[in-house]
Amino acid sequence: MENYSAKSSNEIIELTNKVTTNYNSMPVVMSRGEGVWVYDVEGNKYLDCLAAYSAVNQGHCHPKVVAALKNQAEKLTLSSRAFHNDVMAFFLQKLCKYTGFTKALPMNSGAEGVETALKIARKWGYTVKKVPLDKAEIIVCDGNFHGRTTTVVSFSSEEQYKKLFGPLTPGFKSVPYGDANALKAAITPNTVGFLLEPIQGEGGVNVPPEGYLANVARICKDTGVLMLLDEIQTGFGRTGKKFCGDYDNTRGDILIMGKALSAGMYPISAVCCNASIMDVIKAGDHGSTYGGNPLASAVGIAALEVLEEENLPERSFELGKYFRGLLAEIKSDKIKEVRGKGLMIGIEIKKEFGKARPLCEELKRRGILCKETHEQVIRITPPLIIEEKELKWVAEQLKEVLA
Ligand SMILES: *Cc1c(COP(=O)(O)O)cnc(C)c1O
Repeated sequence: MENYSAKSSNEIIELTNKVTTNYNSMPVVMSRGEGVWVYDVEGNKYLDCLAAYSAVNQGHCHPKVVAALKNQAEKLTLSSRAFHNDVMAFFLQKLCKYTGFTKALPMNSGAEGVETALKIARKWGYTVKKVPLDKAEIIVCDGNFHGRTTTVVSFSSEEQYKKLFGPLTPGFKSVPYGDANALKAAITPNTVGFLLEPIQGEGGVNVPPEGYLANVARICKDTGVLMLLDEIQTGFGRTGKKFCGDYDNTRGDILIMGKALSAGMYPISAVCCNASIMDVIKAGDHGSTYGGNPLASAVGIAALEVLEEENLPERSFELGKYFRGLLAEIKSDKIKEVRGKGLMIGIEIKKEFGKARPLCEELKRRGILCKETHEQVIRITPPLIIEEKELKWVAEQLKEVLA
């Protein structure tokens, strides 16, 4: 058997580029993670300020989640939904309790969670709202990111995501993000849903105007449109609340979750809503071989328990405030704007000072991993278990890099 670990980072990067094509990764080869720290093949240590796009809110290889994974892996990993298993119901019960809804549907990737919400909204439209067959419209936002499946890229505003992947799925229209009046104007009798992120993550950590989500919730309620809230990235404490919509007292009509639902251990996504909506989905309408499998369910329970036991949403709220305070003290001509909530923070770099990528590369040399988004924005989203002194160090490094 080949010794897979006896390779240098450079050799592994070369091999990666030989066998696959779909990412332009930063030149770091991670081989171990613990809490907020990751280590490369050569043993160099980095503070992870991306946290796998907020999937690792609980920190890398959280012992409690690892234990749940190991324990379940030795018992039963997959039943398929052809049969019941003795873990899923408890996971979904816990998730319903955590979110405040009565029903859940488990899937795997975030994009599948979004697809699930879209299918529920469409079927609800035809069977409850009585929209004429195949006329259902779903409104989305300019600058959205909801995943990479064919239907989801059909309504992306990123040319590269959809160009040459057509024909695209019809039935979507896009309105400016953060503009409640534009939503109102776009709704027709055939509109069944409005899909949005509470903060646009991949779009550049775009925070909508105060009260936007509350306005959206009211407009949707008044017009009989389902609000599909994609909290895949913003959920589970990332923005300083359990869900970002909590700032506006809404979790939408269908809440879409993924990423940190597994503490970075396993692909798990889910949607939650109330029975009056979920009940449109009948046995056989939708599913996935791995969705709700016992391994995922055990991991999901442990990941949710860690969020609760370690008060991670509250921690994110306080530490986010602290860190943004430190950032506010950095006087740099390069900074256009610092925005975000909790520990979801974007630092936008003025175009005349170049792109954010070289700054991320400089931070990497200093032992901090983060990734630019939308060319001009450095995104800082560390695991929520991070300590004040670590954030202080990140702020010091940022100050020097931005000087
Ligand atoms: C990451 C993300 C997705 C897609 O999740 P995948 O697991 O990559 O399919 C969808 N919506 C938002 C807001 C995301 O951040």
